Amino acid sequence: MHERQKHILTGVQLPTSAILGAGFSRCANLPTQKEFSDYLLSDELSVTPLQKSITQVIKHFLRDVFSWRERPPMPSLEDYFTCIDISANSGHHLGIQYTPKKLRAIRRMTIHRIFQILDRKYNRSDAIDTFLSNLLRTNSPGFVVTNWDIVLERGLQYQDASNRIDYGFECFNWRSKQRKTSSADDITVAKLHGSSNWVYCENCSTIFYDLDEKLALHKMIGLIKADFRLFAEEFNNQNFDDPIGDEPESRKCPLCGNMLATHIATFSFRKSYRTFAYPAIWHNAQTTLSKSSQWIFVGYSLPDADFEFKHLLKTAELAFRRRRDAETLNITVVLKDDEAAESRFRAFFGERVHEVIQGGLQEFVM
Ligand SMILES: [Zn+2]
Repeated sequence: MHERQKHILTGVQLPTSAILGAGFSRCANLPTQKEFSDYLLSDELSVTPLQKSITQVIKHFLRDVFSWRERPPMPSLEDYFTCIDISANSGHHLGIQYTPKKLRAIRRMTIHRIFQILDRKYNRSDAIDTFLSNLLRTNSPGFVVTNWDIVLERGLQYQDASNRIDYGFECFNWRSKQRKTSSADDITVAKLHGSSNWVYCENCSTIFYDLDEKLALHKMIGLIKADFRLFAEEFNNQNFDDPIGDEPESRKCPLCGNMLATHIATFSFRKSYRTFAYPAIWHNAQTTLSKSSQWIFVGYSLPDADFEFKHLLKTAELAFRRRRDAETLNITVVLKDDEAAESRFRAFFGERVHEVIQGGLQEFVM
């Protein structure tokens, strides 16, 4: 085990929890939210007729709603999704031509494009491999994840631990159609904003997960034929099914036959946590943290917009303090040249902050 991480992890009896933010995925070459706009309309992701029409729809939307004129800056994805969500969820237009129906279609298409970006950019990372391998040698480690990419899942796969992943709610393996059964060496993975490898049945509330690939993208789940017709007459049944490359049957819920949807909370400031499973995931995150004597934040900047998550962290911290077997909670924060985030951590957790590393995960595992 490498020295710095060893120093933090040795002698620990109670479990360690890792709290992972966007900076963690950055180690695997995934773009930050700010950089997403560079790829949103990129030519390399607009190859098939289907991809081209998604690009056109997003482009027109940016032009009509944000007066964007094909040059930077673009609105942030938070602004983009928040405008869509508040209008669509309250049954309002966003300007005269964007009806709630169209807005929901744009939302699905943009999420599809984001999956494309995630899939394209991923690279395996030595720093992540070392970090996970060290962590897995400790007593029942847990993960609380704010990202909805599957960088952690892929990392656990490289450690031969993907079959131990426990998402903390009832869900079915897409391949076997079997419910995940719990076992003693399960690794808690609480994904607060959902995950790109989950699909959701809006009829029977079942969630399926696939650990092998980006299920949602692979099956084109979440793209609906009718969405494309709203924008272009030329998408009739035939030339929409062809580019999808899959029988509609394969996008249906195996339990009830309803069409499946993606299940992530997206970038919107108005995140919908009311959907089935989110209360269970958040509760599980809180329980995991309140039983851990070591918290390691990796690439998470504790932004003000995450006030609900910050409340969860504070509640878990205070609950841990009341445990009879409690050691002192030690918080380690791994950042990449982010002084402002360091100040936020020190202000929020005070002397619980044991160490702050500003050289990224690379420096932490060295
Ligand atoms: Zn169903």
